[in-house]
Amino acid sequence: MFYFDNFYGKKVLKSSLLDDTDCFFTTREFVLTSRDRLDLEQESERNKTFLLNKLNCEKIYTAEQTHSDNIQIISKDKTLYENTDALISNIENSLLMLNFADCVPIILYSKKDNTGAVIHAGWRGTAKEIAKKTGEKLVKSYNILPENITAIIGPAIGKCCFETSEDVFEQLIKDKTNKELYKKINDKYFIDLKLLNKYQLTNIGIKNIDSCEYCTCCMSDIFFSYRKEKGKTARHSAILKIKGVR
Ligand SMILES: [Zn+2]
Repeated sequence: MFYFDNFYGKKVLKSSLLDDTDCFFTTREFVLTSRDRLDLEQESERNKTFLLNKLNCEKIYTAEQTHSDNIQIISKDKTLYENTDALISNIENSLLMLNFADCVPIILYSKKDNTGAVIHAGWRGTAKEIAKKTGEKLVKSYNILPENITAIIGPAIGKCCFETSEDVFEQLIKDKTNKELYKKINDKYFIDLKLLNKYQLTNIGIKNIDSCEYCTCCMSDIFFSYRKEKGKTARHSAILKIKGVR
């Protein structure tokens, strides 16, 4: 279950499956990445410093996202990963961040192994199965059991608003008999990206999954929406801190 929480006075969205872990999705009230909103640049820089201080971390590890299926296991001294759409870490006190405006944010975390990942899955990343590939990489690289991984699929554009062409539909929907995944209205297709990503995770044995119902396009008063704001927007962020051993 998802709920809005208060991070030292700033509104964030959390999942009850990982409520004791430092991981959440930010909102317009807590912008960390300004992108096309130059007016939010200073505020986002201030917020990054604030976030690091409150979580007692030194650096933010992030990526130049390109809608790829490139996955990087982070190393301690490199904070920015080019051409990357998923970051994996087991480094204590490392803080992972990826940024979103309608695309699907996914956090994977094994409490037992103190190892996790943050994934950016737009429709291209979803078609390339980046969620599945990242889950598999976590399992293989660290010997983690899929049943120990918790997945939270954050706020993203919903089936209500994600209208696509037939070409995109063909790339995404292999099982056309599954009407949960899409609806067709006249000649237009509306696709459920969050559910497609959920299936990718259940197919590799991850069962503990919380998927957010919120549509970023319908709720653009709280989240940033590329579609609603016609590309001129900032980003909300998915945040995961790998905890330090006390
Ligand atoms: Zn919507």
